[in-house]
Amino acid sequence: MIPFSPPRIDQKVVDEVSAALLSGWITTGPRTKLFEKRITEYAGCKATVAVNSWTMGMQVLLHWWGIKAGDEVILPAYTYCASANVIVHAGAKPVMVDLNSDDFNINAEKVKAAITPRTKAIIAVDIAGFPCDYEALYKVIEEKKSQFQPTNDLQGKLGRILLISDAAHSFGATMNGKRTGVLADISTFSFHAVKNLTTAEGGAVCFNLPDSFDAEAIYKHFCTLILHGQNKDALAKTQKGNWRYDVEEPGFKCNMTDLQAAIGLVELDRYQENLDRRKHIFEMYENGFANESWALLPKYKDERRETCYHLYLLRVKGVTEPQRDAIMQQIFDRDVSVNVHFLPLPTLTAYKKRGYKMEDYPETWNKYSNEISLPVYFDLTDDQVKTVIHAVKEAYAAVIKD
Ligand SMILES: *Cc1c(COP(=O)(O)O)cnc(C)c1O
Repeated sequence: MIPFSPPRIDQKVVDEVSAALLSGWITTGPRTKLFEKRITEYAGCKATVAVNSWTMGMQVLLHWWGIKAGDEVILPAYTYCASANVIVHAGAKPVMVDLNSDDFNINAEKVKAAITPRTKAIIAVDIAGFPCDYEALYKVIEEKKSQFQPTNDLQGKLGRILLISDAAHSFGATMNGKRTGVLADISTFSFHAVKNLTTAEGGAVCFNLPDSFDAEAIYKHFCTLILHGQNKDALAKTQKGNWRYDVEEPGFKCNMTDLQAAIGLVELDRYQENLDRRKHIFEMYENGFANESWALLPKYKDERRETCYHLYLLRVKGVTEPQRDAIMQQIFDRDVSVNVHFLPLPTLTAYKKRGYKMEDYPETWNKYSNEISLPVYFDLTDDQVKTVIHAVKEAYAAVIKD
């Protein structure tokens, strides 16, 4: 069976995690701090806070920004549930918006139509690793600036809607020569086991706010917020006699450990190699399906943007959702694992119950109903890619007999 996206775990990772385990420091410590520094350098952002998941990084971010009951946060209807769940937990209303027709990302004009005086943030999701049109989103935010109603000093200081990037898929993707991490005000990465770069579980929040914000001060504040609001972490307390601490406000508990950072440092060191391999796999799929009239190939590059080759979202022209499911079953029967990214939020019980209706997001349905995600990962060999391509073609022919 060809798996869908196993992590790249080899002796190098084992050695680095063993070294961390035996170092005498297993929670947040020197490796986590180094990992944060390396991500800041790689992304080119002003500061990075490592956390235990994208989800908790985003939860703390929404808390820090002052999101509360009565507020609205805009996001695409087509994303993983985490993007919406954090908004619900903050007490605010997720306002779902439909997609562009030519890619899987949120549509800026539809965002514009959804903005109200209650809109405090936009979470744009770089689906499959392809960056959203952040230039168009900033333009819309600027156009709606006079409507913005800040409810705290931080929001007053920015004076507009905060643009957040859900960069869970897009570590290393670029727009106008800049990497994700600096394309929005704040970007959040996921280092979950299936993502391009993994720490088993983990995430990072990258700050790129305007220069009027003190990035170092925000970094320090965030470090306390992810550790109960305690003003001294375990590492600081190891200094002789430095035991007394204070809690300035009740915080969360979602720091990254040095064991996770040890994996992340290895992954980051060889990330380019990973990107190159993934790009090669994308190109093999592209060539493999180029002559199939039924194959709708995903956009992963344009004049401004290039993906980080996270997910290959193949679509099958003209098929219904049950036909797509049948094709997937045929692919599985040929020992190839495939997936769907994603079940649209309005199809999930939690969001149906909150009144969201699938028919309000036709482009999302159009993308979802005929989509099949193919395996992409470093250890996938050329022969396996050929097997996948062959299995998909056979599966299509088995289901669609014309
Ligand atoms: C994986 C994922 C998340 C959640 O990441 P965690 O690190 O598991 O919390 C959020 N958004 C998108 C689009 C994802 O794919």
